[in-house]
Amino acid sequence: MNTPNPEYDAVIVGSGPNGLSAAVRLSQEGLKVLVLEAKPTIGGGTRTQEITEPGFLHDICAAVLPTTAGSPCLNTLNLKEYGLEFIHPEIPYAHPLAKGDAAVCYRSLEKTAESLGADQKNYSRLFSEFADHWDYLSEDIFGTLRIPKHPLLMARFGWYGQFSARHLSNSLFKTRKAKALFAGCAAHSIIPLEKAFSASFGLVLGSSAHSVGWPVAKGGSASVTTALANLFKKQGGEIQTDTEVKSLSDIPSSKTIVFDLTPHQIVDIAGDHLPKTYRNKLRRYQYGPGAFKMDWALSEPVPWLNEECRKAGTLHLGGTFDEIAEGEKAVWEGKHHDKPYVLLSQPSLFDGTRTPEGKHTLWAYCHVPNGSTKDMTQEIESQIERFAPGFKDTIISKHTMTAQGFEQYNPNYVGGDINGGAQFFKQLFGRPVLKWNPYKIPADGMYICSSSTPPGGGVHGMCGYNAAQSVLKNEFGISSDKS
Ligand SMILES: Cc1cc2nc3c(=O)[nH]c(=O)nc-3n(C[C@H](O)[C@H](O)[C@H](O)COP(=O)(O)OP(=O)(O)OC[C@H]3O[C@@H](n4cnc5c(N)ncnc54)[C@H](O)[C@@H]3O)c2cc1C
Repeated sequence: MNTPNPEYDAVIVGSGPNGLSAAVRLSQEGLKVLVLEAKPTIGGGTRTQEITEPGFLHDICAAVLPTTAGSPCLNTLNLKEYGLEFIHPEIPYAHPLAKGDAAVCYRSLEKTAESLGADQKNYSRLFSEFADHWDYLSEDIFGTLRIPKHPLLMARFGWYGQFSARHLSNSLFKTRKAKALFAGCAAHSIIPLEKAFSASFGLVLGSSAHSVGWPVAKGGSASVTTALANLFKKQGGEIQTDTEVKSLSDIPSSKTIVFDLTPHQIVDIAGDHLPKTYRNKLRRYQYGPGAFKMDWALSEPVPWLNEECRKAGTLHLGGTFDEIAEGEKAVWEGKHHDKPYVLLSQPSLFDGTRTPEGKHTLWAYCHVPNGSTKDMTQEIESQIERFAPGFKDTIISKHTMTAQGFEQYNPNYVGGDINGGAQFFKQLFGRPVLKWNPYKIPADGMYICSSSTPPGGGVHGMCGYNAAQSVLKNEFGISSDKS
């Protein structure tokens, strides 16, 4: 910033996956970079801890890593060398339905399509081009706003993705299985399935299952953090924990500051240095619904009625498309739903490092209104029991976190919003404000790199990478694309 001979080239505030990705990219170019983290440990949404019983490792936030495995920037970093190992469950995700039936997404697109009977052809037609060309697709959807590198593929993606999940599903699919499978993916958006562009989430997540898979990280998602931090330190980077930035004066002198924070936090820290119109836009930025999360230590695997569900890394619970859509709409309107859509992961079935021999962990959350303090234990456990009678008998102990609790855990989860801001149409493309370069804050040397920028939530590090590219180009005259 405007200091002569600043101590650092860049200071990153926040050590989530985006902060660390930005740090890695900047230090790759030989810049002197410092990461400041408020909490005693780094990692933001990718921490793994013992929160139920000794010896049981739980992912506090992110657990399932399709966008990590499919990230154009993380894939160039050889993170395996720094300790990140993906484990692929036999089945990426499953969606149990009534009477022990289930819709199943296999790694093989053909096998998945075949299992959908009357929807075989349409499922294949919808996903095959995106799954076959994931590398090209991910370059454009995770990249910065620009003319697409692969215009025909993106035109096709844009055509299907612009619709609501309900419209696309109703126009393409006949069976309740295909519709439910699509709803389970689209509802990761945390917007009503009737909203424009909600289909795009179903397309990205559905395609990723057939291309890069839905892995978990061996030992837990903290391995992503550890690997990025190890690489960063090897490149000369410095990390300082227990350092909460409350104002710009808490930051050592630096040519640039990159915030891995969300808009309202940036206004609190740097508001006086921002142009009034920009500051007001950040203040108007909208956060979405929150999450209520549960972790369990189990004496045995979940007794799913459907055998295939026992082989799946992730399960989407909630029943039919209509049931899921109803629950998500209620949450969007500020209401709790007694039959919520539940996202569930059973990592210890595939990763023996997480629990004592023969025991298991389970991870699940549902969406709730922003700022909710309601305990949804009963609602979540009832949804699991609905498809796995006897589940409650396997529980050794459990841990819960409300939406409010998430904000205390990590100030980026404002009101429990896990994506750094609602992902409806305007804020999908215009995060945090609609601008050709959304990463540049209109103040000397300041940038934003959190999931409040494109491409939004998830452990892909692309917000950090894109922001770092902008820093390199604008502040240091370095223009090279390593993704
Ligand atoms: C319950 C839950 C489940 C999720 N599941 C998945 C999943 O399965 N797969 C997936 O890909 N994604 C998942 N996510 C989303 C994913 O975790 C986030 O999108 C991702 O972590 C965002 O990364 P980030 O770097 O932008 O911010 P964060 O990871 O939030 O990191 C921000 C960091 O900044 C620090 N910080 C905040 N304020 C300050 C300050 N003033 N000074 C210094 N440091 C500060 C915080 O402590 C934190 O470490 C989930 C999130 C939650 C909460």
